[in-house]
Amino acid sequence: MADKKTTQVAVLGGGPAGYAAAFKCADLELQTTLIDMAPNPGGVCLYRGCIPSKALLHISKLINEAAEANRWGVTFAKPEIDLDKLRAWKESVVQKLTGGLGMLSNSRGVDHVQGRGTLVDANTIEVALTDGGTTTVRADHIIVAAGSHPTRIPGISIDSPRVLDSTSALELPEIPKSLLVVGGGYIGLELGSVYASLGSDVSVVEMTSGLLPGADRDLVKVLAQRLRSAFKEIMFNTKVTKVEEVADGLQVHLEGETDTPTKTYDMILVAVGRRPNSRDLGLENAGVTVNDRGFVEVDAQLRTNVQNIFAIGDLAGEPMLAHKGSHEGLVAAEVIAGHRVEFQAAAIPAVVFTDPELAWCGLTETEAKAQGRKVNITRFPWAASGRAISIDRPDGLTKILFDPEDERVLGVGICGAGAGEMIAEGVLAVEMAALATDLRLSIHPHPTLSETVMEAAELVEGASTHVYRPKKK
Ligand code: NAD
Repeated sequence: MADKKTTQVAVLGGGPAGYAAAFKCADLELQTTLIDMAPNPGGVCLYRGCIPSKALLHISKLINEAAEANRWGVTFAKPEIDLDKLRAWKESVVQKLTGGLGMLSNSRGVDHVQGRGTLVDANTIEVALTDGGTTTVRADHIIVAAGSHPTRIPGISIDSPRVLDSTSALELPEIPKSLLVVGGGYIGLELGSVYASLGSDVSVVEMTSGLLPGADRDLVKVLAQRLRSAFKEIMFNTKVTKVEEVADGLQVHLEGETDTPTKTYDMILVAVGRRPNSRDLGLENAGVTVNDRGFVEVDAQLRTNVQNIFAIGDLAGEPMLAHKGSHEGLVAAEVIAGHRVEFQAAAIPAVVFTDPELAWCGLTETEAKAQGRKVNITRFPWAASGRAISIDRPDGLTKILFDPEDERVLGVGICGAGAGEMIAEGVLAVEMAALATDLRLSIHPHPTLSETVMEAAELVEGASTHVYRPKKK
């Protein structure tokens, strides 16, 4: 007979959204059950996404910097890659973090049920336990945080070990001589960069006219310049129509702005977006509304159309970013605890962890144009930054969007080494409704790349210490 449990809150899915929600519920003294298939919390982000990819990108950075050091008078030998050791190191990072989360979960008294959960009705989840058998969890409140999965394209995502998605690419099955990355978005560019630094000839095929559709073009231009030398080829306005396995690899059929309609690669990586995991969750059994894009519809309190069921993270809509999901998790937990809170982020940062990194938050220039909204934009080129020059990374740009009425900071965009860390200042500025004056008059440490934010704010007045512009007569 199936085992039965009752709890105040059941969280379905243990990724950054789900575990943040479960931990917060426990901290708010709600009896909490976390249901996930893995032995420890972490989800895609920790096991097969953000964390392992960042561990690999760290190695790429080291390899690239070692090669560049030659210019500064230090020459290292060509690196020897021990793939087994590299994989083991990446795995140890994942184990350390997920193990740590397991301990945090236990010490908070969260009951972790390991298995696949399906909603049976609005208060009941049936769990097929990983080690066999089933259990039923009855909960007053349910938070669904089941995440997303890589999009597959029929005819392209064929069943072959040579065709990778983000999950299998992170396993580093081998370093192919040639790799075609389908999709010039976050994953394609990050993982393409990893394989390029490990020695693959990486080509990218992107169906739109530029990399990272949605990001501001002036920022993308900085990144694209460097990627053009890291990658063998970048094809725009081109689609892959078919992939066939041939004796020496994969024959790829291309359509669009390319003069060679078929090309052969050792492997391909399909990175054309992610889809919410809203199927097979039993949401229909509980009467939860899912929209035509597969996202669960929620209000500002992350509540679905069913009063006691909440949805957070990738499942609850874009942007599909871990930090957005974690924040939603905290909000949902507080709502369940009876606090009067809402998800009201003015700025959700986005970071592409390429080299250079590209990051933005708040309003983008692209969005301002689409909305027909007037903004003042300042741009500080890193070629004028002492720190950027001293680390030989003048390839950067810091831009700030201001409200022309009161010079309030509406958005910040940065492309350059370490932009992902720097964008946090932009988030704070937007959230605190800072004015150009606030950034300009805050003394930034010298010599750091953070000074580029201060100087971009100074530029509201036409010039900054390191950027001279003759006054208009
Ligand atoms: P994405 O949406 O970032 O990029 C997909 C790209 O593929 C787009 O540029 C799109 O135009 C292109 N594309 C779609 N179909 C194509 C086709 N048939 N041929 C060629 N190009 C095609 O998606 P992703 O890179 O797969 O990442 C998925 C999600 O994961 C992202 O939305 C992001 O939120 C998240 N993610 C975030 C990070 C991060 O925060 N650093 C890293 C990885 C993934």
